[in-house]
Amino acid sequence: MVFHILNRGVGRMTLFRKDSDYRALEMNQKRTCPAFSRRLFLRRASATGVSLAFGMEHAWGKTRHSGRLPYAAAEIAARLGISMAVFQKERLGARHIAAIRRAGIRRIELLMMPETFDFRDRRQVSEVLSECRKQGVAVVSVHGNLKRRYNDPDEKKRRAAAAALLEEIRFAEEAGAEILVAHFGTNDPARKTVTELLDQTKDRNIRLTVENMRGGLKPYADFVDRIASDRFGLTVDIGHARDPDGVNPFVKKGRSVEVLSLGGRRILHLHLHDTFDLKTKPDHRAPLHPDGIIRWEDVFAGLKAIDYGGVFLFEDGRGENPKEWTRLAAEFPQRFVARYGP
Ligand SMILES: [Zn+2]
Repeated sequence: MVFHILNRGVGRMTLFRKDSDYRALEMNQKRTCPAFSRRLFLRRASATGVSLAFGMEHAWGKTRHSGRLPYAAAEIAARLGISMAVFQKERLGARHIAAIRRAGIRRIELLMMPETFDFRDRRQVSEVLSECRKQGVAVVSVHGNLKRRYNDPDEKKRRAAAAALLEEIRFAEEAGAEILVAHFGTNDPARKTVTELLDQTKDRNIRLTVENMRGGLKPYADFVDRIASDRFGLTVDIGHARDPDGVNPFVKKGRSVEVLSLGGRRILHLHLHDTFDLKTKPDHRAPLHPDGIIRWEDVFAGLKAIDYGGVFLFEDGRGENPKEWTRLAAEFPQRFVARYGP
């Protein structure tokens, strides 16, 4: 309970200290009418952001970059991506790829859940990948099916899960992805799965990554060291991480830098999203959402400190409002500078 109140305090302080005009307005109106102010905020964010997504990134990056921020808006925009999990409640098609591109995003992660995207459905694959080519959208990563247990202690089940993932890895390469993300786990069966898959794909360039689940990063960093392959690393999901006190380190001042440095060069990929001050289901909110408490300036300072070389990939784990989520992800670079810049 104590940390809960503390989180709330920290979140609110951030909002007031870093407010631009519309955020101050938002906070004032929130006291009387939360629903109205939320809509107002999103409209205003849209008005300031959408035009910038097309061609004005460079001007903004140059004029607003003070040298204090770890990255200029243009630098973030040039490496920004989004997971198609944002459309997880729909069947992924050409129109979704077109919508992503219209928002100004050129990099995507494909999620291998047959109810939204079935890599065995050649018609769907062809529709999505040809639209990507047409729109100039790159598939940078593929997320393995979430329901399989690659670390199952039952050897027969583990082998079946690994065999299915091998097919997804082959598809990922066909789609041009450089990173495969999976919830491998860190136990001995997980090590077997990863070792086998690396061996079965040794003639390929794609790199495999283990995504951290609830808890600290250390067991995952150790797991990567045990595998000891230059084709294996970490995907850091900033919403899954928890310190021993149960609080997400990425909402605490200064902790992001420490946590990310623990991953260091092992970090090949990211899942970025915001977190609300809630006891349950706080994660996978749109980045820089007015109710979000992630300390984004610390996250990006931490990424800069480890010289992170991958994509800044935003991942929605909910699919509740794809339009708003996509827009806030696309506008992240400008809004990041607006919140934390001079
Ligand atoms: Zn994730």
